Amino acid sequence: AKLDGRATYRFFEPEMDARMQMRRQLELDMRQALARREFQLHYQPQLQLEGNRLIGCEALIRWQHPVRGMVSPLDFIPLAEEIGLIVPIGEWVMRQACRDAVTWPAPLSVAVNVSPAQFKSERLVEMVMSALSASGLPATRLEVEITEGVLLHESEKTLQTLHRLRELGVRVSMDDFGTGYSSLSYLRSFPFDKIKIDRSFVKDLSDKRDGEAIIRAIAGLGKSLGMTTVAEGVETPDQMERIRAEGCTDVQGYLISRPVPASEVLKFLSAERSTY
Ligand code: C2E
Ligand code: CA
Ligand code: CA
Ligand code: CA
Repeated sequence: AKLDGRATYRFFEPEMDARMQMRRQLELDMRQALARREFQLHYQPQLQLEGNRLIGCEALIRWQHPVRGMVSPLDFIPLAEEIGLIVPIGEWVMRQACRDAVTWPAPLSVAVNVSPAQFKSERLVEMVMSALSASGLPATRLEVEITEGVLLHESEKTLQTLHRLRELGVRVSMDDFGTGYSSLSYLRSFPFDKIKIDRSFVKDLSDKRDGEAIIRAIAGLGKSLGMTTVAEGVETPDQMERIRAEGCTDVQGYLISRPVPASEVLKFLSAERSTY
């Protein structure tokens, strides 16, 4: 046979090698990026539907690589989590986000994404307390966004960490709601402040007949549990109106604004806008 095991092996080897090498290079570059100040935070506003009021922004990391250009977090956060680099990177994000948010008019808040690997670190709560006190940002203006991954191994310790953050006054949001296998059971294990409805459900509003039913159900669930519900990835006025009709409390998406550099947040906030 011509397609024997060895032939297949020889065919894939160079490709695997190239992939491994790219990964190693990415890792090396990422290890230096913090010291070289190549990371930046961009901010995406969140709008409360009642009264069209801006309530805060989500911090989203950007990597301005000297050669590759702008690298998407989707291309380096997973590797950073895998090799533990997310702990120092996440600490930088938290400290920078608090420093930026304290310059915004109160009570605007900042939402920071916190990875599962950061919850394994013993010092998460201390790090957050230190970021708050160093910046002067009140804990009530900080929100942490976690995904199901954090609760996957639902350890006592993780829940304790979440409760300690909550006791400080920090709010906790469940990110990407509905995309995992057990979103519902996580709502039972921890009293989140906010549910972020994943963008894929918002997209279904235009594509699929039953899109509304899902959004309506999640909004209703949030309401009965006393949680606010923010729809992610809202891009069109039509989606926004349907989301409003289904009872979501907040929206976030390109329709309101793309994520903007920190220096543009205040400009965005002061711009007069009567409608979206
Ligand atoms: P996420 O937390 O779900 O963040 C929302 C993502 O959706 C962002 O992508 C945002 O730019 C994008 N987005 C917002 N509105 C729209 C819209 O209307 N349409 C479309 N198509 N996209 C929209 P981004 O900034 O590329 O971040 C991707 C993911 O990377 C984030 O997903 C989050 O999981 C992760 N990430 C970003 N920054 C951080 C960070 O500082 N720490 C950690 N641990 N993860 C981060
Ligand atoms: Ca998020
Ligand atoms: Ca999300
Ligand atoms: Ca996501």
